[in-house]
Amino acid sequence: MAVDYNLEGQTAVITGSTSGIGQAMAAALAEQGVNVVLNGFGDPAKIEAYRLAMQKSTNARVLYHGADMTKPGEIADLIAYAQAELGRLDILVNNAGIQHVSPVESFPDDRWDTLIAINLSSVFHATKAAIPLMKAQGRGRIVNIASAHGLVASPFKGAYVAAKFGVVGFTKACALELARSGVTANAICPGYVKTPLVEAQIVDQAKARGIAPERVIEEVILAAQPNKTFVEYSQLAGMLLYLVSDMGASTTGAALSIDGGWTAA
Ligand code: NAD
Repeated sequence: MAVDYNLEGQTAVITGSTSGIGQAMAAALAEQGVNVVLNGFGDPAKIEAYRLAMQKSTNARVLYHGADMTKPGEIADLIAYAQAELGRLDILVNNAGIQHVSPVESFPDDRWDTLIAINLSSVFHATKAAIPLMKAQGRGRIVNIASAHGLVASPFKGAYVAAKFGVVGFTKACALELARSGVTANAICPGYVKTPLVEAQIVDQAKARGIAPERVIEEVILAAQPNKTFVEYSQLAGMLLYLVSDMGASTTGAALSIDGGWTAA
């Protein structure tokens, strides 16, 4: 049976979509004919080239808005821009995120504040702006890219773990509030995905430890991931497309693991 996600003509905002998971999720939606607003930092020329290439290779309109996810006013502008340019907002993917690794006692205060702002508070601000639009439409899909670290902790990632547990809790509260409105809210909790960020970590760790990249992957990066295999973008896209389609209508308030068994332990 061929699966038809039936998303043609819908609209989406994907925060932090100039790189890694967000960029891949934006491409997956655009390939289904969803008109998308990209967001995130990076070289303006590269972002524009990518935006044009995505638009050319799909049936979708692809726009870009440079809102800084630490700034509530800019986040509200991003959602208003999507509504003004595309006429409606069907899908919000809260994906922007950063990492900082440090013991709690020496965790820099400003890194804590920035990480919480991007990884947690931006999810609140974007969702707050999107809900009235989605409620008025009688349908909407909020998908928060949390992490396995939204379900279990690791040392030295206190801010990240706090933010991602927060995202999972906030997702559940939204799902309950929105349960009768046609709007769903879910969190995707990936294990390690080989994004540019993780690729750089492999190179750095191999140098620092004087071991081969393959050993870094298995013994350091994927130490907690029982299948010792990175999560693929296509696997995340499959989960996202399910959630945002009509097939996902009864799935709300879920924290869906896609982590090679990490959180089973
Ligand atoms: P990435 O660094 O490749 O991409 C992060 C994106 O966020 C970029 O587009 C960046 O420009 C944007 N961004 C950062 N700060 C911003 C700000 N202030 N305002 C607007 N945009 C900003 O990272 P990634 O690995 O693709 O991670 C994406 C999400 O997935 C994050 O929330 C991350 O926590 C989560 N995640 C990643 C992994 C993994 O293994 N890579 C695993 C689980 C969860």
